[in-house]
Amino acid sequence: MAENAAALPPREAMEFDVVIVGAGPAGLAAAIRLKQLSVAAGREVSVVVLEKGSAVGAHILSGAVIDPKGLSRLIPDWKEKGAPLATEVAEDQFLLLTTRGSIRFPNFLMPPLMNNHGNYIGSLGALCAWLAEQAAELGVEIYPGFPAAEVLYDENGAIAGVATGDMGVGRDGEPTENFVRGMELRGKYTFFAEGARGSLTKELIRKFDLERNSDPQKYGIGLKELWRVAPGKHRPGLVQHTFGWPLDGRTGGGSFLYHYGDNLVSVGFVVHLNYENPYLSPYDEFQRFKTHPAIRGTLEGGKRIGYGARALTEGGWQSIPELVIPGGALLGCAAGFMNVPRIKGSHNAILSGIAAAQAAFEAIGAGRAHDRLEAYTSAVRTGDIAADLKPVRNVKPLWSRFGTYLGIALGGLDMWLNTILPGKGLGFTLKHRKPDYATLKTAVAAKPIAYPKPDGVLTFDRLTNVSFSGTNHEENQPVHLKLADPAIPVAVNLPEWAEPAQRYCPAAVYEIVIEAGGSPRFQINAQNCVHCKTCDIKDPSQNITWVCPEGGGGPNYAGM
Ligand SMILES: Cc1cc2nc3c(=O)[nH]c(=O)nc-3n(C[C@H](O)[C@H](O)[C@H](O)COP(=O)(O)OP(=O)(O)OC[C@H]3O[C@@H](n4cnc5c(N)ncnc54)[C@H](O)[C@@H]3O)c2cc1C
Ligand code: SF4
Repeated sequence: MAENAAALPPREAMEFDVVIVGAGPAGLAAAIRLKQLSVAAGREVSVVVLEKGSAVGAHILSGAVIDPKGLSRLIPDWKEKGAPLATEVAEDQFLLLTTRGSIRFPNFLMPPLMNNHGNYIGSLGALCAWLAEQAAELGVEIYPGFPAAEVLYDENGAIAGVATGDMGVGRDGEPTENFVRGMELRGKYTFFAEGARGSLTKELIRKFDLERNSDPQKYGIGLKELWRVAPGKHRPGLVQHTFGWPLDGRTGGGSFLYHYGDNLVSVGFVVHLNYENPYLSPYDEFQRFKTHPAIRGTLEGGKRIGYGARALTEGGWQSIPELVIPGGALLGCAAGFMNVPRIKGSHNAILSGIAAAQAAFEAIGAGRAHDRLEAYTSAVRTGDIAADLKPVRNVKPLWSRFGTYLGIALGGLDMWLNTILPGKGLGFTLKHRKPDYATLKTAVAAKPIAYPKPDGVLTFDRLTNVSFSGTNHEENQPVHLKLADPAIPVAVNLPEWAEPAQRYCPAAVYEIVIEAGGSPRFQINAQNCVHCKTCDIKDPSQNITWVCPEGGGGPNYAGM
């Protein structure tokens, strides 16, 4: 928004029944189900979806092995209708990597909750683009390139909609000759489906204290490259997960390799953001991982064709915040419905969209508006999402407490007990402890990590990889990474934690530059930002706030 908003012309407003922020699986499922209910009941419901990416799917990054449970409930004939999910999982492999070797876990030891039988491999971005087509055919208005930048409230403090950001604001905060005022989209109900660490969702969680009865949300950063491999190396339907090397036993995370489509392999690496060593670089761990003898063979002779990164939620059941506020609801990963051991959240995102749509449709039919959709909360807390998340609720806290080897073993035991004695498991719920920003050791107490130089064939430097994310931002606009106190990076973060932003950012946005006189300066290369939200989560001083840049800015992922 331009800095002196009072001097600007008033915003135009449009009225809808339901306003949805975010065209991911959660937001699109809600939009589609609202229209399906509307057609079935013969009662018009107007629905609008705002998406900050330049196109639907441009900001979606996922594995993705997709459990079709949600999709089948939303669109039972998705196969006949041509949903882009053609590769069914054929084989599951789970490997422990050591420095030079690997140990494969026999599949019969793996808890059935981890089984990928009946799931499909594909691009979640492509699936979202297809869902958007289905939604548009039903009459949903979808506006890509329009970030929701501000929450609107009515006179009683209930959510009344959102406003899109102003366009054409210069770097100095003043309107340029291209200035266009944002729009107000007002709704009886507003759904926040922004995915992990949504910027408006974060504001709502604070303002309404929505985490008062839950544990703090936990996060991971997921980095991904899309490769086209040599045809002889491609094994369609193979799903491979690893843990262990290159991470040490105190750092949670692991990798995925999914073979699908036209000789495509989606290779990715997740690092839990409660890591302790400020010298750790999730990006460089990912690059190093690809050089392991058990992995490199698949990629050698192939070509990396895409890159990106995105935070994912890991708190699970005990971190689900209050889901509704008067006039609003949190959907999908904005609410944290990710199943961590399965690395899956898209099925729950779709299920949450369906549940929220049902609740809003009934409320609007009863003449209600701007109140709490309690039916949505109870659908989540007693329905399929609860059944998916509750049995795995201890896996992440066990991993955090006991480290990778014992933690995973205990987590596996808990999942087995949950299979044998449904609803029981270990019989208790472990809490998450510190939020992720508070887990770093100081630089003096930590050991620097020497990462190998990229070879440009199998491993790449950050900037080269960012060019494979299609990232682009209008240069003349305010920096969208807001520092509450611009002095903190150099005055506090540098001496205390060797300014970890230089390493946790997967897009080389943050740099400590040494000036001619030898003094350090914190530089923000905002145009590189791939919108992963890691800085907003991990900055140990909680000094960085990620806000939406001008519409359409950010990555332009294709098939991620
Ligand atoms: C590396 C990685 C691997 C994963 N692997 C899998 C997997 O294999 N299987 C699986 O099921 N799940 C997987 N997940 C999780 C899955 O991607 C998420 O659970 C799912 O995408 C959540 O859907 P969502 O609709 O809640 O949010 P998202 O998919 O994040 O979509 C949110 C949308 O909202 C938009 N948006 C955000 N803020 C605004 C705003 N203010 N205004 C306008 N638009 C906005 C975003 O641009 C985005 O398009 C993975 C995640 C990651 C990061
Ligand atoms: S600046 Fe923040 S949100 Fe952007 S890529 Fe870096 S860590 Fe991610």
